Formats: sequence, C-alpha cells, structure tokens
Amino acid sequence: MSAYAATEDLLRALGDEVVRLDEKERFAASFDNARLSFMPEALLRPRSEDDVGTILRMANLGRVPVTVRGAGTATTGAASPHKGGWVLDLSGWNRLHIDDEAGLAYAQPGVVTADLCAEAERLGWSYPPDPSSHKFCTIGGNIACNAGGMRAAKYGVTRDFVLALEGFLPTGEWVRWGADLRKYAAGYNLRDLWIGSEGTLGVITGAVLKLVPKPEARATFLMSFADEYAALAASRAIVASRLNPAVLEFLDRQSVRCTIDEGFVLPFDTETVCAPAILLVELDGSLDRVEADSGRLSAIVGDGALSIRRSRSDAETELLWAVRRRCSKAMFRLADGKLNEDIVVAPRAQDELMRFTQELKERTGLATPVFGHAADGNFHVHVMYRRGVPEDCAKAERAVGEIMEKVVELGGAISGEHGIGLAKTPFFALQHSQAEIKAMLAVKKALDPNNVLNPGKIFEPFRIWEHEIVRVKLPWD
Ligand SMILES: Cc1cc2nc3c(=O)[nH]c(=O)nc-3n(C[C@H](O)[C@H](O)[C@H](O)COP(=O)(O)OP(=O)(O)OC[C@H]3O[C@@H](n4cnc5c(N)ncnc54)[C@H](O)[C@@H]3O)c2cc1C
Repeated sequence: MSAYAATEDLLRALGDEVVRLDEKERFAASFDNARLSFMPEALLRPRSEDDVGTILRMANLGRVPVTVRGAGTATTGAASPHKGGWVLDLSGWNRLHIDDEAGLAYAQPGVVTADLCAEAERLGWSYPPDPSSHKFCTIGGNIACNAGGMRAAKYGVTRDFVLALEGFLPTGEWVRWGADLRKYAAGYNLRDLWIGSEGTLGVITGAVLKLVPKPEARATFLMSFADEYAALAASRAIVASRLNPAVLEFLDRQSVRCTIDEGFVLPFDTETVCAPAILLVELDGSLDRVEADSGRLSAIVGDGALSIRRSRSDAETELLWAVRRRCSKAMFRLADGKLNEDIVVAPRAQDELMRFTQELKERTGLATPVFGHAADGNFHVHVMYRRGVPEDCAKAERAVGEIMEKVVELGGAISGEHGIGLAKTPFFALQHSQAEIKAMLAVKKALDPNNVLNPGKIFEPFRIWEHEIVRVKLPWD
C-alpha cells in the first residue's frame, strides 16, 4: 500500500482534526534544529492513546514511516521525517502532576522541560536535567535523546531521573516499563533501552520522573585564565577536590573573543586585555556547605586564575552567566555555518583535545571555538564555515571527520547528549564495532519488525552536505 493510500485510510479512521494535510503545517514539522527538511505525507495530532495505537497499527499495515516529534529542537536531524510518511506530534500532550509527598512528577511527553523545573521548584523540589533548550524542548524529546545539561556531572542526565515510561511499541501495543517506585528489579529493563533510542524503539506517552530536594543555597563564580590549559587544569583541580560543583562550564578564548566582539563586557574588576579562557562555577547545597565550599574554591584554583568574581545577588548571577549564555549565538560573527559536535573525553585527554582543535584551526583556517561541561568532559567543539563557499564546506566536512577520529582515538564518545540522528551517522561505525551494531539492529528488528518508527536514523550513513538547509528563524535562534 502506498503512503498516500494509507494516509487516506487514516483520515477516514481518525478525521481531519488528527490527520493534518495542510502544507504549511507539514512543512513546519518537516525539520528540526538541524534544518534538514523532508516533507511528511501528514502531520498527526492524536487526541488519545487509542489514536496513537490506531496510527501505529495502520502504519504497520501500510509500511508507513512514523517520526515522533516533541518541540523539534534536536540538533542532529533526529526529528526530521527523512523517509517521509507521518509525523506524530505529541507537543500538545502537556499534562503535569507533581506528587509533593513522594517527590515524583507524572508528565505527558509534551511538557516543556522549563515548566516542569519551575513547578518542581515552586514546591521546593528540583528537576536537575537542564538542556540549554529547556524553555522549548519537551520531556518526551529529552527522554528519547537522554538529554544532558549543565548540572549533569553532579546530578546526572535525563536517564537518572526516569522511573517509569509508558507508551506504545512500534507495532502499536501499549506497554509500561518500570513503575512509580524508586526500586524495580522485575524483569528486563526495557525502560532504559527506550531512553536515548531517539524515537526508534517506542512512542513515549507518559513518564514518571524522580525529583530531588531544591538546594537551599547557590553561589556562582566566574573565573578568567590566561589560556585554555590553565582553565582546564583548574577545572580538574576542582573535580579532584571533591567540591562537586553543580555547574562547571568552560569557555575557550575563541568563544569568549566573539562574545566580546559582540559588545559584551566581561564582569571583572581587573581589566582583561585579551579574551581570557573562562570557567563558570556554581556550588549548591545547604547554606553552611555552600559558604564553606566557596571559601575553599580560590585556594583550590590557586594562582592559575587571573580574576575570580562571586555573585552577591540574583542580578549579578545573571551577569556572570551572560557570557556563557551569549557565546553560542555570538559565534555567528565568525561565519554563517556552524557545526556543533557534543563530544566527550576523559579528564586525562582534555589538553590533547584542546591542542587538536587549535591545530585544526591553524591548518584549515576555520574557527573552532569550544565550550562545554568541563566536569563531565562533554565539550561542544564547533567548526565555523561559510555556507556559500564550497571550499569551506569541504574543509568543514573533513574537519568534523578528523575531530570524531581523534575523539575515538582518545577513548571518548562522539556524542554526550545530542545523540546520532542523521548528522552523526557517518561516524557511528568509528564508535562501535560491527558486533555492537549488529546487536543494536537485532533489538530494532525485534521491536520494530516492519521498520516503521523513525527508520534510517542512527544506523544508515547520511551526508548532510548533500541537502539544502532550510533558512528559517526558529524560536530558540
Ligand atoms: C539552542 C539549543 C540548545 C540545546 N542544548 C542542549 C543541551 O544542553 N543538552 C542536550 O542534551 N541537548 C540540547 N539540545 C538538543 C535538544 O534540545 C534535545 O535533544 C532535546 O532533548 C530535544 O527535545 P525536543 O522536544 O525538541 O525533541 P524533538 O527534537 O522533537 O525530537 C528529538 C528526538 O526525540 C524523539 N521523540 C520526541 N518525542 C518523543 C516521544 N514522545 N516518544 C518517542 N520519541 C520521541 C524524536 O523522534 C527525535 O528522534 C539543544 C538544542 C538547541 C536548539
């Protein structure tokens, strides 16, 4: 059966409130933040779990690809329906309930992460996973990508907060993995298999998430250093000191330089003549603990820092965060094309990675700004290039390949939080042996025998360079 005929059948079964054929709506669902557009046959907005089951059963009958969608902030093309078919939009499923006594959140997949965080904080709880896209992205997308964030080294990533998931197998049967219990050892853990599977193994329609008590106090510090190596040495010293900061963000001089060139003035009392490398540190916990740890921080960093500034008010905290929040957009001063690779390396390999990115910049003439989560070694290595210049594009493509080879050679990971989607498929076989990939494909085949759910993602090599990028302004730009 063709996708067209299957869509006609679905329209008859569920009506045009669910099955949306409008071209504008389909186009808006045809790409994510990677901006690789593939037009779906239909955009589906199910009203109920019954609708989801019906959609999946009919997709299996007609062999129609189904791509689940939250907010579409994925940076890898994971939410692009690149084989066409249907986009299953769950962003409107946004009911949230917090059990204040148990410290648990019951969330539908479309709950926006920042809304969950705010509601938890209002009740004196905290939901720590905080991807930078938290004002837009959804809990369903976070779970499907195992999203991380700035507080991951201390508190963990999304996976560490998921107690139970419910939803549908690709074949359309309803399932529930885990329970709203803090311990569960009954049978295979398919919950964790769904987490990070990028919508290829199941459709999440509900989640039970663990909350932690909201910390009583926070202290924020901004530190400048002469270069990247001094900043990274200080960050390793902080980790080794067991201070366990909630946030330990690193910015290299290229990232800071372009933020200064945007007109931003670094908030240090002492003049910093050149763009320094930077660490942003946040300590949290009880008031006494935070004060005691704050006192230890400068001694741990030692003489390595050029300046250290501590915030004394919410307004000052915002000021200290500003350079970190602004640097990603400021990079577009360097070129209009940006590749953002969220790689991970162990502390022992950080300096070598940094040397490599600087050498790559010298050799290719392309800027390679790096910032990221220093405590867990999850760095965002960027390659900036001019989109309209074929020579730049060819260099950028090669540069990313070299970065991935280097990361794997250093014993690192090609992705720490964004996942594979389409963009990282060319490097998947660098990370995994054929036996490992075969085992993953066997799981996919067992759960999705007709290969309907987000087909082609993760495993099939895809070259982003062969596709036009959609030029639209997105809410988070
Ligand atoms: C400015 C910006 C900053 C970012 N910062 C971070 C960061 O700090 N850390 C980080 O980890 N990521 C970050 N990201 C990436 C992105 O925000 C995350 O991957 C996020 O988890 C995606 O959520 P979403 O709702 O947008 O999902 P979508 O983009 O809609 O979908 C992502 C994937 O999840 C699947 N999916 C979505 N909902 C479901 C569901 N209900 N059931 C099954 N599968 C589903 C989709 O099929 C797709 O494969 C950033 C992105 C942007 C644009």
